[in-house]
Amino acid sequence: MQLSLFDTADYSTSINSDYKNYKNYDYIILAFSGGKDSLACLLQLLELGCPKEKIELWHHDVDAAIEGHPHFMDWPCTRSYCEAVAKYFEIPLYCSWRSGGFKREMLRDNTPTASVKFQTPDGQTIETGGNSNKLGTRRKFPQQSGNLSTRWCSSYLKIAVSDVAIAHQDRFKGKSTLFISGERAEESPARAKYKYLEPHRKNTKSRQIIHWRPVHQWSTLEVWQIISKHGIVPHPAYWWGFGRTSCRTCIFLNDVDWATLYRYSPSTVGRISSFEQEFQLAISRNKRYLQQRIQESTARVVDPLWIKQSEYFDLPLYTSDWQFPPGAYGDQGSGSW
Ligand code: SF4
Repeated sequence: MQLSLFDTADYSTSINSDYKNYKNYDYIILAFSGGKDSLACLLQLLELGCPKEKIELWHHDVDAAIEGHPHFMDWPCTRSYCEAVAKYFEIPLYCSWRSGGFKREMLRDNTPTASVKFQTPDGQTIETGGNSNKLGTRRKFPQQSGNLSTRWCSSYLKIAVSDVAIAHQDRFKGKSTLFISGERAEESPARAKYKYLEPHRKNTKSRQIIHWRPVHQWSTLEVWQIISKHGIVPHPAYWWGFGRTSCRTCIFLNDVDWATLYRYSPSTVGRISSFEQEFQLAISRNKRYLQQRIQESTARVVDPLWIKQSEYFDLPLYTSDWQFPPGAYGDQGSGSW
């Protein structure tokens, strides 16, 4: 397969020149959160003529809701939204997660991290790990930091999960894989340092994997423009006024996001707030507890349609009357990333 993916790219990376000319891929994996940036990556791939049959959407279920755990951090609708995208574009969606999800990892108390589970093209769910002798205790929320060792949610519930899914599938051995993710430089100083193109962490002599960030240099407006051009209805989070589709109760939410969430789903916020009290530690770096942050903020008003859709997305994905959602104008970072 000859892709024209990198023909006009700025190769300001330390990548080996062999990789630079490497254009034949057997698999194209897109880390797909359901948010605007990963959606823009998908649309860009399709515009570049990338054959759909090579593309797989990989979605990390941070709450492990797929195995029956109640939603703790994430938007309940996110998996149904990702499924709607996959169905519309006729591209397979594979979910992966850490057993017990975010909540189990947060409440680790002298226990090992849980196993990882991932879906495969042959319809299986593979489980691996979870039996380490390395015991650990968290009992606190991830820190609002660009450092992934203290902001453990991204590393343990997403990055490490996809690494395990790659490393434990023999189909990638002896093959070439393009791994795509949607981080953008504009989002934060930490993300600005990410490379546009580089060997993936799981690239080995027997398994070539290139990590490409096609929208790294894109502005927020460019992201919305490609979504608008294709008439794709954005994730309900943007209709709530959130600037990002991250976890619904992401540690980086701003005060207005929390107040809005509290207005329409007080029990969701209550669960998080009660853990702040239990841990005697605020999520916020400036030590303001959620109760105070909400009291001092004014909630946005959300259309009832999007309150319902945030539980389960079942609208048509395409619209001929595409409009910017309120979140398109909002705080894109919702904090430092
Ligand atoms: S969206 Fe926020 S809370 Fe969720 S994993 Fe990412 S940084 Fe952590």
